Amino acid sequence: MVATGTARATKVEGFTDYCAMTLTSIHRSIYLAMAMLQTGLQTFNCPMVGLGTWLSSQGQVGQAVDWALEAGVRLIDTAYMYQNEKEIGDALKKWFDSGKLKRSDLFIVTKLPPMGMKASNVEKYLKKSLEALQLSYVDLYLIHCPFGLKEDDNSVNFKFREGAQVIIETDDHVALWHQMERMFDLGLTKSIGVSNFSSSQIDRIMDIARIRIAVNQVECYAYWQQKNLRKTMEKYGIKLMAYGPLGSPGRPSQVFKGTLPAVLQDPVVTTIAQKWNKTPAQVLLRHLLQLGFIVIPKSVNEARIKENSQVLDFNLCNEDMVILNGLDRGIKGRTFLFDVFPTDKDATKEPEYPFNDERDNYSMFDVQEAGDGKSPSEKDTSSAAN
Ligand code: NAP
Repeated sequence: MVATGTARATKVEGFTDYCAMTLTSIHRSIYLAMAMLQTGLQTFNCPMVGLGTWLSSQGQVGQAVDWALEAGVRLIDTAYMYQNEKEIGDALKKWFDSGKLKRSDLFIVTKLPPMGMKASNVEKYLKKSLEALQLSYVDLYLIHCPFGLKEDDNSVNFKFREGAQVIIETDDHVALWHQMERMFDLGLTKSIGVSNFSSSQIDRIMDIARIRIAVNQVECYAYWQQKNLRKTMEKYGIKLMAYGPLGSPGRPSQVFKGTLPAVLQDPVVTTIAQKWNKTPAQVLLRHLLQLGFIVIPKSVNEARIKENSQVLDFNLCNEDMVILNGLDRGIKGRTFLFDVFPTDKDATKEPEYPFNDERDNYSMFDVQEAGDGKSPSEKDTSSAAN
């Protein structure tokens, strides 16, 4: 069977049903659950479930990739900034050399780092990533963040050095996008996209794009469901790739100030998990999948990697979807603020700081309006998966 791919959650469910009937292996069903990505010149498939690798340290990440591939995961999300591409590349090479997987079986994502945010730097940083990953192309290249940091002339490796203050420096997004298109033309990436971009920033690129934004990778989980931003993305057919889908509970204090959201322990989530004989993580991931989003949970633990991959053999019913949709806290649920970079001035005041966009933000009081204007009990459950 060849998956025709789809961006709609209902079709993913269709695949799951089909797989349940015809395939015994969960590995196969993961492989077959695909989202459709549009570049404007072609449409192609992206797996719906991937492995995140931020904070997966050297010495751990290669093993995590092995476990993920063994579990049937075919999408690996990394970034120049994560400083782990080399070990990921080594792990991939082993799989290719053994003949167990071909390059075309995998979907590899990496990102242009903030210090590469100059039109003249795009090719250099993509080539550095390709060299570390030991690949001739990636499947998706993303602009990691809409504002840039000045490149350190002495060392192009960005580090959170104590006391260091990096200067915020962002090139014009239009010029940057033309370079991203050139990377596509050169065959160094099969598709291009953005991460952490706001509605206005997306509009600006889509106004001039020859190669479309295929994906916007943004924080998205039960407490922060991006109900406004996703309207803009749906208008353009841009896929949402959800980062922090489990609430990103492993963040150290250097990268997160405050109380981490305990969404995995939320009684609503644990109750639904018990009902389906699944774990809270599986329920949170399944919720996002049924909303039509690609999920990239990070883990370096074998059992949890397997657990996170086993999310295609059950369906949340409409009633549960409505309840999970109702967990949205609007802007209060947002936890990635990009305000912890050691920058020379307040990043949140920068013109390209993405999270001040009024069109995307909604408060706890607007949540019902931002969703569909109805309280959970009033909702027409037939639309719960949309
Ligand atoms: P996440 O996937 O929501 O959470 C990862 C944390 O949850 C880790 O501490 C992990 O610990 C734990 N975990 C994993 N599976 C679990 C399970 N089944 N039950 C309980 N705990 C579990 O958060 P994230 O890593 O922040 O986001 C995912 C990926 O998105 C990243 O790794 C990265 O690839 C990407 N990302 C992108 C951006 C961006 O700006 N574009 C920002 C953040 C993240 P163990 O490892 O010990 O299992």
